[in-house]
Amino acid sequence: MRDTAWMVTATFRFYEELNDFLARPLRRRAFSCPCAANASAKHMIEALGVPHTEVELILVNGESVGFEHPLADGDRVAVYPKFEALDIRPLLRVRASPLRELRFIADAHLGGLAQLLRLAGFDTLYDNHYADEAIEALAAAEHRVVLTRDRELLKRRTITHGCYVRALKPRAQLDELFERLDLAASVRPFRLCLSCNAPLRCIARAEVQTRVPEGVFERHTRFVTCDVCARVFWEGSHWRRMRALIDDMAGPERTPAAQPDPDGDTPP
Ligand SMILES: [Zn+2]
Repeated sequence: MRDTAWMVTATFRFYEELNDFLARPLRRRAFSCPCAANASAKHMIEALGVPHTEVELILVNGESVGFEHPLADGDRVAVYPKFEALDIRPLLRVRASPLRELRFIADAHLGGLAQLLRLAGFDTLYDNHYADEAIEALAAAEHRVVLTRDRELLKRRTITHGCYVRALKPRAQLDELFERLDLAASVRPFRLCLSCNAPLRCIARAEVQTRVPEGVFERHTRFVTCDVCARVFWEGSHWRRMRALIDDMAGPERTPAAQPDPDGDTPP
């Protein structure tokens, strides 16, 4: 009898990039796995190495279920990643609702990516002293998407929205996020201070005369400032290079994937 057994056996199949988290012999195929009777789908998926934040849809015997769904003997479990091109929206059941506004918190290893996101106008908390507990707490309190290359961090219980970043270099990481989260339509460049993540505001040219180098003051008419760090920014060559980068990513002619990375790494 199924309901008196200690253990049950379910068959799992993971799709697309979720396979990267699995042990090699389990990738891209169906496999059976013993589970404690009444173990939740989430528990088993994480036990196999896949953080729940990466999962968008779970089908058990063809039916969409939530994370807490208990597994029974003979169940066939199909697990799909968060941002599959396939439109699975009508089937979603794992989360009550999407986040309305995309805000991020980057872990201590993603400082370069955090700067690029701010540059593109996405509110991104980052501090290279954040402990995992602080990231978990801030993500929950401020409804932020956790960005990390640490899958253990994403397994924490209260983290509901997270992205496991696969790329290693900031520019490639930004490309990856644009692709996965469809960020291009939401880009608002130069809205946020790159150091503080605080909003930038326009400032009258007359007010910056003593705060910027003389040559800069003569060559430029538009200036913005950050009220937190009091830095003044202008559309210099660094700014133009960054704008080109952002325009390139947001542009309609943008070709997906396999783009060369002309200027490599991270902004100075
Ligand atoms: Zn600032």
